[in-house]
Amino acid sequence: MKDCLFCKIIRKEIPADIVYEDKSIIAFFDINPANKGHTLVMPKNHSNNLLEDNEDDLKNISLAVKKIGNAIMKATNAEGLNIISNINSVAGQVVFHTHVHIIPRFKDDGINFKVQRRYYDEGESKKLASKIKTLLK
Ligand code: 5GP
Ligand code: ZN
Repeated sequence: MKDCLFCKIIRKEIPADIVYEDKSIIAFFDINPANKGHTLVMPKNHSNNLLEDNEDDLKNISLAVKKIGNAIMKATNAEGLNIISNINSVAGQVVFHTHVHIIPRFKDDGINFKVQRRYYDEGESKKLASKIKTLLK
């Protein structure tokens, strides 16, 4: 896509610290890392988010996340990772080209993804689970 920031990086019109690239996937460092080694993995094909990806891209992105995640752990000596993909602005998505964040984690690194717990009303969880199950049939 002509005006998409990540498509521009894919076309090498904008520089980035690329850690992996093949014919369908590219991965480069986030310009504002949550921790050193914070990497964005994405398909080269433009799509707005993970839910809009075709099956081949989804397969390739999963395999790349595994491979790159392991390399990041080794390179940074991270004790863990957060692997997340924001979908739509309400969830914090800012760049609308599918990408998965791999964030290296260290003990006491000050990052906190803990959220306030919500509670279901009586019977509500069963109803919602059944609604989703029906949509998946
Ligand atoms: P989102 O919030 O859409 O899930 O994540 C977009 C990410 O892209 C942000 O974490 C942001 O720091 C990163 N980002 C924004 N602009 C650039 C850029 O020009 N280059 C690189 N490498 N990362 C960027
Ligand atoms: Zn794009």
